[in-house]
Amino acid sequence: MKRILVTGGAGFLGSHLIDRLLAQGHEVVCLDNFFTGRKENVAHHTGNPRFELMRHDVTEPFRMEVDRIYNLACPASPVHYQHNPIKTVKTSVLGAIHCLGLAKRVKARVFQASTSEVYGDPEVHPQPESYRGSVNTVGIRSCYDEGKRCAETLFFDYHRQNGVEIRVVRIFNTYGPRMLPDDGRVVSNFIVQALRGEDLTIYGSGSQTRSFCYVDDLIEGFLRLMEHDTLTGPVNIGNPGEFTMLELAELILKKIGGPSKLTFRPLPADDPTQRKPDISLARKELDWEPRIPLDEGLELTIDYFRRKLKSAV
Ligand code: NAD
Ligand code: UDP
Repeated sequence: MKRILVTGGAGFLGSHLIDRLLAQGHEVVCLDNFFTGRKENVAHHTGNPRFELMRHDVTEPFRMEVDRIYNLACPASPVHYQHNPIKTVKTSVLGAIHCLGLAKRVKARVFQASTSEVYGDPEVHPQPESYRGSVNTVGIRSCYDEGKRCAETLFFDYHRQNGVEIRVVRIFNTYGPRMLPDDGRVVSNFIVQALRGEDLTIYGSGSQTRSFCYVDDLIEGFLRLMEHDTLTGPVNIGNPGEFTMLELAELILKKIGGPSKLTFRPLPADDPTQRKPDISLARKELDWEPRIPLDEGLELTIDYFRRKLKSAV
């Protein structure tokens, strides 16, 4: 049994990670400022003596005795991370410094939730870990992209300079239950719009592509990387199936039915035109690949939002 800190643990990915860690018999501390996370995501663990919930902001230092740290604290949806971009940079950079400082002090292994956004609007397709990316330093996505890039730098400098044991994952678009209905990311937007009978909002022409990974597959990749004996990463974890936003919208409309049509909105600035992970490294080193195809993952996610919207009425 290990004692494990999960920052951002009340969020979408963090809460699924905590479910798995507690099921494995570990002790878990969930640290969150509840910006985009919700207590209800972890409420089912209340009363479990191996679970603690702590309201705290990673931009402020924290200390505790732990063996493992998963650093997930950071808003992930463009709508949320652009709401207060300066805070987003502080969360990524100061959050990384505080996690790394703690890891150094207590000799914990520390895991960073990095992102495919470090590749920016990629000229190399699909993206391997060796690709250094094409990121605008001064655009509206830069607070997130550059914050995450700087966090990766800090992780590798603490590793080289102080011998801190690090694990860095680059997450590609992931979806599933517990995304917020108003999260703003494309899968939840389209599903919620279709369930409400509203038109699906396509940004730009809808020809841009993304690769969508179901949350359970992603979390399995996290656990394998964290417990790998030597691999620091960065490692891409994502589903290489690639879809245009028009294809995604049509798939969701076909599954949900109803009166919804497509409506077109301006493409946000710096929106990447294509994205697809090269997962050769994860396959080779972690023996990992996604198991849940988009079709099946969407069914599970639609079921979740159907129940969620019904209970909100
Ligand atoms: P999310 O918004 O649901 O979760 C983020 C969590 O961090 C929330 O609980 C939020 O309240 C918390 N948080 C934000 N700022 C904080 C701060 N300053 N101090 C403490 N807690 C704070 O998003 P998610 O999809 O679960 O993403 C989790 C992590 O994975 C993020 O670091 C994100 O950048 C990364 N990521 C996610 C995806 C994806 O597709 N889901 C893709 C790439 C990277
Ligand atoms: N998108 C869209 N309609 C929406 C929300 C998003 O067409 O209602 C597009 C968005 O422009 C982007 C893609 O879907 O091209 C993925 O957007 P998301 O915010 O989910 O993630 P990211 O852009 O960070 O990959």
